[in-house]
Amino acid sequence: MKIGVMGGTFDPIHNGHLVTSEEARYQFELEKVIFIPSARPPHKREVRRSPFEDRYRMVELALEGNPFLSVSMLEMEREGLSYTIDTLRELHRIHGRDAELFFITGADAILEILTWKDPAEIFAESQLIAATRPGYPLERLKEALPEYNSHGEPSTGRVHAMEIPSLSISSTDIRERVREGKPFRYLVPEPVWAYIVENSFYLER
Ligand code: NAP
Repeated sequence: MKIGVMGGTFDPIHNGHLVTSEEARYQFELEKVIFIPSARPPHKREVRRSPFEDRYRMVELALEGNPFLSVSMLEMEREGLSYTIDTLRELHRIHGRDAELFFITGADAILEILTWKDPAEIFAESQLIAATRPGYPLERLKEALPEYNSHGEPSTGRVHAMEIPSLSISSTDIRERVREGKPFRYLVPEPVWAYIVENSFYLER
């Protein structure tokens, strides 16, 4: 079974994330894509973010009606910091060693992968899909990878760049737009827009 694993903060989830997951499902013939909102990101301990419950709820609202997409609390249920390697190992325990995992996230996040816990192990547990905007300098991505995974296979064959034009939408931009009273309605799915407005999210700096 080929499973996509969408890792991200999703503060908030937006249409660029949804397009990314559907494109990955199509290009890599994935049976399903599981969104895993990160609970306690190890690299962002000082950064303020919305509570996990709200970020999770917005993902849930965004995925409604698409049977191929689901959201998981895995990183919330596990104690301690949310390391990607632990999530991938857990997914292999749940779905079996034969499950082929594809970890999907933004190319800018993957650029930092050498600073993550056990990068060579990550490349052994999973292939990586780096979502980029068109025109992204891909040579930066190649330079940022561990040379080999922990099975001795070259990492370059296990990372795939995927251009997503609608990734010009970003969570940071949406939070700024809300704060500045600018429109953001059609950058996120309608129920997510309503949830943000009803709960007055992102109005404070
Ligand atoms: P980030 O640094 O906030 O995001 C970097 C860029 O990638 C942003 O432009 C972001 O846009 C985009 N992006 C993030 N997730 C995406 C997705 N699923 N699809 C398309 N674009 C995406 O990254 P982050 O959200 O904190 O972390 C990304 C993933 O890497 C998470 O699953 C996190 O747990 C993992 N990670 C693990 C470790 C570790 O194990 N030590 C360390 C760092 C990150 P938006 O802001 O619009 O999403």
